[in-house]
Amino acid sequence: MTTSRYLALELANTVRHDGNGGVADELSSVDGLTSWVAAQEELKAAEEFTATGTGAALTAAGAVASGSHAAGSATGPVADERVRTQVLAVRAALRALLARAVAPAPPSRADADQLPPADQALSRLNAAAARCPVVPLLDWPTDAAPVARLLPAASASPVDLPAVLARAAIAFLGGPDLPRLRACTAPRCVRYFLKEHGRQEFCKASCGNRARAARHYRRHHAPPTAN
Ligand SMILES: [Zn+2]
Repeated sequence: MTTSRYLALELANTVRHDGNGGVADELSSVDGLTSWVAAQEELKAAEEFTATGTGAALTAAGAVASGSHAAGSATGPVADERVRTQVLAVRAALRALLARAVAPAPPSRADADQLPPADQALSRLNAAAARCPVVPLLDWPTDAAPVARLLPAASASPVDLPAVLARAAIAFLGGPDLPRLRACTAPRCVRYFLKEHGRQEFCKASCGNRARAARHYRRHHAPPTAN
């Protein structure tokens, strides 16, 4: 339920509420980035495909591990602080443009006052994506539907994680599902989500329950009105 099929939304939602009224950041450390990358199916698919296709694997360090899965899988991806800083810049640009997309509705409260202006966010995303030239490739396993992929061009070495994420952000922001984007308005929640049906106001059922409880509390604790 909370897993989006969009890598861009997964990236945006690495900023989350911490359950205590504050905000937690899954990418606040190099280890956090490494675990997040390892959990992304889309990045894994890219890694496997690249690994079988060219003998190179995507790692969170943005480097190509040539020849085998060893550096990418056996010991887990290796991230570093430089790549983490670049990923955070891509994420801030993405979140700025998600905020623009949901306007005039309010954006996620997590970082609304710390985001770059839209024009800066746009040029930052485009510049990050341009660092990794891609080629289109059709993948069609015998037991599954065909999938169009964009793979790093053979000349693009090393493969660049921030560029891959920037491209995912561009695909989402320029794609058909953007009009369904919403910022959850439940108390404490800071998630962006795609509205699945007409009356959906919250990202998940637990947020709806929390919002109803808060409404109920306000009704019964409202200051008495004069009559
Ligand atoms: Zn929510």
